[in-house]
Amino acid sequence: MKYDRILIRYGEISTKGRNRNKFVEKLRKSVRIALAPFPNVKVEASRDRMYVLLNGENGKDVIGKLKNVFGIQSFSPAIKVDRDVEVLKQTSLELVTSLYNEGETFKITPKRSDKAFELNTDGINHAIGGHLLQNIPGLKVDVKNPDINLRIEVRKEAIYLSCEIIQGAGGLPVGSSGKAMLMLSGGIDSPVAGYMAMKRGLEIEAVHFFSPPFTSERSKEKVVDLSRKLAGIYGSIKLHIVPFTNIQQAIREQIPENYSMTTTRRMMLRITDEIRKKQDGLAIVTGESLGQVASQTLESMYAINEVTNTPILRPLITMDKTDIIKIAQEIDTLEISNRPFEDCCTIFVPSSPKTKPKREKVNRYESYFDFEPMIQEAVEKVETLVIKQVDEQHSEFESLF
Ligand code: ATP
Ligand code: MG
Repeated sequence: MKYDRILIRYGEISTKGRNRNKFVEKLRKSVRIALAPFPNVKVEASRDRMYVLLNGENGKDVIGKLKNVFGIQSFSPAIKVDRDVEVLKQTSLELVTSLYNEGETFKITPKRSDKAFELNTDGINHAIGGHLLQNIPGLKVDVKNPDINLRIEVRKEAIYLSCEIIQGAGGLPVGSSGKAMLMLSGGIDSPVAGYMAMKRGLEIEAVHFFSPPFTSERSKEKVVDLSRKLAGIYGSIKLHIVPFTNIQQAIREQIPENYSMTTTRRMMLRITDEIRKKQDGLAIVTGESLGQVASQTLESMYAINEVTNTPILRPLITMDKTDIIKIAQEIDTLEISNRPFEDCCTIFVPSSPKTKPKREKVNRYESYFDFEPMIQEAVEKVETLVIKQVDEQHSEFESLF
C-alpha cells in the first residue's frame, strides 16, 4: 500500500488570525522551493492544512525535504479515500496490512469534522476495527500504547487515513515576519544567527564588509558559499558586498588604536542601516554572543549600538560557543566557516581593544574626522549579488547591477 499524499499541519501559524492567508502563502512558497527536485508533486493549501500530492514521487525523499521547512509543526503520510464505508474498510485493511508485523497491536483514532457522514466515531471504531481484527490474524487491540495508530479523519470532501505523525522543523514560514539585514562575516556565528532568524519567519538579506587587498577574493568566495547555504532555505538570498578598505584605513589613521574596533563596528552598523533603509528592512541581525570577544561585552554593545535605533536582533546572544557550533554543523556551514581566510576585522585587530569603551570617548574621537562622505560612498559602491540555491551545473549567482 502506498500513501498518495502528505498532510501538513501548520502549528503556530494557525493561531495568527487575519494574517493567516499571508502565512499560508509563504509556507506554500517554502514548500515549493524545498520540493523543487520533485517536479510531479502538487501542493494544495487551505486555511488549516496543506497537502502535498506525491503523483508518483518518492514519499520518503519528499519527507526528508519537508523536515527542513520552517512553519510546519508536523506532517503525516496519508491516503485520501471516498466517503464510502466499504472503500474505507478495504483501504484501511490494505494500509494496516502493509505496516503490520506479527504480534503487533493497533488502535483506531477516528475524527469526524463532518457530522453528515453515516458513521459516528463509535461506528467507525466498530466497523473498521472489526474488519481489521477479522482479516489480520494475530492483530490485537491496545488503546494505550498501540504499535499502529490508524487515524481516520472524515471531512466534507473525503476521508483521510494516516498512521504516523512526523515532527516538523517548527518556527514560522520564511518571509512571514518581515525583512532584516544579516551582517554576515566569514565566521561561525553569523550564518547560524541568520538561520535562526529565518526560522522565526524573517526574510534575510546579507551584508558583508570586504577590504581588498587586505582580504582576498577567496574570503569573499567563502561568504558567497555561506550565503548559498542560507539560500537553500528559501531558494535565493541577496548578498550586499560593501567595499570597506577606505574606511578601515581612515579609522587606522584617525582613531586611537584601542578604540579602532569600536569605531569599525559603528561604521559597519551605520552602513548596514543605510542599506536596510534602501531595501525596506526593519531590523539588523548579527551573530553576537554576550562576552564572547572584546566587541561583544555589554559596554561595547552599548557604545556601538548608539549609532542607530533600528532593532538589532542577536539570536545567539545567550548561547555558548559549543552550542552555536552544533547548529553550524547541523546546517552544514561549519566547514565553510572554518576555511582559513582572513576577515576584514581580523586584519586590523588592535593588540589591546577596549573591552569597556565609553560612548563619550568614541564620539569625541570620531568628531575630528568626517566619516559621512565615506559612508555614503561605500553605500553607493555596494555590489549586490543574488545567490541561488545550489543547482549543480548552473552558475549559482547573477549580478544585479
Ligand atoms: P562571526 O563568527 O559571525 O564572525 P565573531 O564571533 O567572529 O562572529 P565578531 O567578529 O566580533 O564575532 O563579529 C560580530 C558580528 O559582527 C558578527 O557575528 C557579524 O554579524 C558582524 N560582522 C563581523 N565582521 C563582519 C563582516 N566582515 N561583514 C559583515 N558583518 C560582520
Ligand atoms: Mg568574526
